Amino acid sequence: MNKAQTTYLIKQKARELGFMYCGISKADFLEEEAPRLENWLKQNMHGQMHYMENHFDKRLDPRLLVEGAKSVVSLLLNYYPEKETQQPDEGTYKVSKYAYGTDYHFVIKDKLKDLLRYINEEVGEVGGRCFVDSAPVLDKAWAKKSGLGWVGKNSNLITPQVGSFYFIAELIIDLELDYDGPIKDYCGSCTRCLDACPTDAIVAPYVVDGSKCISYFTIELKDQLPQEMNGKFGNWIFGCDICQDVCPWNRFSKPHQEPAFAAHPQLRDMKSTDWQEITQEVFSQLFKKSAVKRTGYKGLLRNIQFVQQSDENQT
Ligand code: SF4
Ligand code: SF4
Repeated sequence: MNKAQTTYLIKQKARELGFMYCGISKADFLEEEAPRLENWLKQNMHGQMHYMENHFDKRLDPRLLVEGAKSVVSLLLNYYPEKETQQPDEGTYKVSKYAYGTDYHFVIKDKLKDLLRYINEEVGEVGGRCFVDSAPVLDKAWAKKSGLGWVGKNSNLITPQVGSFYFIAELIIDLELDYDGPIKDYCGSCTRCLDACPTDAIVAPYVVDGSKCISYFTIELKDQLPQEMNGKFGNWIFGCDICQDVCPWNRFSKPHQEPAFAAHPQLRDMKSTDWQEITQEVFSQLFKKSAVKRTGYKGLLRNIQFVQQSDENQT
């Protein structure tokens, strides 16, 4: 089988496994990203996400992660929920859409393993590793390089046909394939995400100060939430979708077809008062295998109380 045929087969199998898009790049040093990452870290925009400081070289060069790496296969898995299953904008506290169903790490890892197994069956012995947000891989940079979208001013990867509500995963393998090229940036003169961010975390177009982002505060920060953020979270208690919700490209989002990402039916009906009274038991039911477990029951309670207190201060 030649390179073009193998590339075709891999992309076809990726689609069969439910991935929306698949793009491939040569495993090489990420020259353009190096100064950007260095600056971001220097300015402490990662806050308490100290793990971002680790493996600087590996983050920029996949050949240091996987021996003999030749190709980075980037894959997108849609998580955009059907409108009817989404939480309403008013009268409730909100959880980022990506966390509605089963934790994506589990779902995607299984699919990636299937893809790697398939490549081994079809092509012969191919070495590689699967990555989902779990190791030092700059997933957006690779997806961008592979033509799956451009990185928008809100720092999300945007795919013209489907917007940005998807997970990005990679397979790094020691097999040479045909490579894709990047596409144009279509943000143009739009500034909707910058204008809408309630904490001014998008400090300049294309630069998100992670340490000011609601996602960071509600998920990553282990301490008390800073009082200067009082009143700025709106009703977000786990993550934040604002800069994606306002992005005009997300009018092209289509509902996912992944049963594992379906929300617990009760989630949509939870009112603010239900959240304020949430018990450990209800938490466990609602978020049985969800990524919300990352912040835990206590973390979620902290976030709920913070938002509730902000509401009370405003009335
Ligand atoms: S996720 Fe929310 S807080 Fe973070 S940059 Fe986007 S709008 Fe701002
Ligand atoms: S909201 Fe506008 S500026 Fe922001 S990422 Fe989307 S298109 Fe780009």
